[in-house]
Amino acid sequence: MLSHADLIVTNGRVLTMDEANPKAEAIAVKDGLILAVGDNGSILDRKGPDTRIIDAKGGSVVPGFIEAHMHLFSGAAELAHLQLQGVYGFEALQKVIRDYAAARPDAKMLVGQGVDYTVLPAETVTRHHLDRILPDRPFAMAAPDHHTMWANTKALEMAGVLHGKKVGPGNEVVMGEDGLATGELRENEAFGPVLKLAGEERTRLGLSTGGEPDPAPSTAERDADRDIMRRGLAWCAKHGITSIQNMDGNLYQLDLLSEIDAEEGLSCRVQVPFHYKNFMTLDMLEKASSMAERYSSDYLHSGVVKVFYDGVLDSWTAVMIEPYADRPDWVGEPLFTPDQFRELAVAIDRRGLQIAVHAIGDGAVRAVLDGYEAARKENGKRDSRHRIEHIEVTTEADIPRFIDLGVIASMQPPHPPGSMGLPLEPTVSRIGRERWHVSYPSRTLKEAGAHVVFASDWPVSPIDPIAGMQASMMREKWADDMPDQRFSLHEALAAYTVEGAYAEFAESRKGQLKPGFLGDLVVLSGDIEATAPDALHEIRPATTICGGRITYQA
Ligand SMILES: [Zn+2]
Repeated sequence: MLSHADLIVTNGRVLTMDEANPKAEAIAVKDGLILAVGDNGSILDRKGPDTRIIDAKGGSVVPGFIEAHMHLFSGAAELAHLQLQGVYGFEALQKVIRDYAAARPDAKMLVGQGVDYTVLPAETVTRHHLDRILPDRPFAMAAPDHHTMWANTKALEMAGVLHGKKVGPGNEVVMGEDGLATGELRENEAFGPVLKLAGEERTRLGLSTGGEPDPAPSTAERDADRDIMRRGLAWCAKHGITSIQNMDGNLYQLDLLSEIDAEEGLSCRVQVPFHYKNFMTLDMLEKASSMAERYSSDYLHSGVVKVFYDGVLDSWTAVMIEPYADRPDWVGEPLFTPDQFRELAVAIDRRGLQIAVHAIGDGAVRAVLDGYEAARKENGKRDSRHRIEHIEVTTEADIPRFIDLGVIASMQPPHPPGSMGLPLEPTVSRIGRERWHVSYPSRTLKEAGAHVVFASDWPVSPIDPIAGMQASMMREKWADDMPDQRFSLHEALAAYTVEGAYAEFAESRKGQLKPGFLGDLVVLSGDIEATAPDALHEIRPATTICGGRITYQA
């Protein structure tokens, strides 16, 4: 007798991502695992008295999306901030900020997010603009990349940065000719004090310091933080995501998630890294090893060390080999010297941990590859799957090194200028014509043989993997002689499923719909193969299933 399924999905256009059995109509799940994949008839033979049946109504059914780079805790907190994507011009900015402030008379600090660097097309934003909008309440707004914030005078005063602040390399409180801060704050050490006024610093600790909350949160604070996490997990499930590779972290995040896991089960599998900052010492990696030991389940695991090597192009904080095209005396300032990074990479690798490094400029990418190469020389070759995050500019010489060193390229389809409504400027002028052909080189890396994973970097970009797939399929060239960086539908889907699984050493358990694999899948509202790329975003997750459990239903 065939064993009965807990859950069956029928009438689907199932894209299994399993090369041996690429298409099917139906799937049966039992005890959290995929029991069988096949045609409606054979799968319905697994129906028992308690089997839950989901009719996919001809929609695509795909493996649950694996989000390879995002920030769960701070992203979840920011769902409550003023959303400034798509707002341009002083008048429009004024209206939305004033409306938001009026609706929150008791907020001690008002925060906006996602404001474009060119929100005032002809001017640089200063505190004076924001003072005209909101003179007597503290307000600050973050660029989509979260590497720059602009604050009004009130916020600068309250945070104690109006008269400047001593900050580490790569960070800057931009000062005006009047000897006061202009309002532009570059990188976390500069805007951290302002954000702190909002009382959400615990959600950003994994990003800002990698440390633990001090003092320890009260019970009420801990409850509130768990609720923020729940809100973030629900946001992921709503977008068809069943696995998250978080890119900031600390023990506190793992503990909150494990409490939710114990209480009601996690609606998404989460990987949380140890975040190593440039003010730490190598002995602190012991904590990364202990996090990895303590958390190693299919639902919650660590085992990764996240590092920032540089900043971003738009604030000239990314590290370039040759100077910026629009700032000829400047190549950016790394957060580690190449020697420091090499030593760090060797030390992490020696512990058998995976490394994921934010490297945006070609100089940063090269230094990180050098570090990985040193780790291999020093510790011997192993299946390390170290990663580089973003790779917005690289060089022809460094592309083959991704393959030689087995380095995973973590790319964000919403990030290239021109994608998903992003303006080309100032980024493309900053990069400069000579480097355009090796900018955001997703397809170049893939064709060279690298493992490419896709992600949103939420809350930097909208979390939606389907919109990300669309962006990768519709990537436009900035000039005719640039290489085509577009992905096909199947390639894009692979970058959000099988490749994501590979990136967390889980390719034998997830990323495909195959008997014995984890029961992580998403039923979509339509047939993605029959939909034109520009309409792909209209297809929505109808049901998300993680470990055989329904985590979202439209
Ligand atoms: Zn990130």
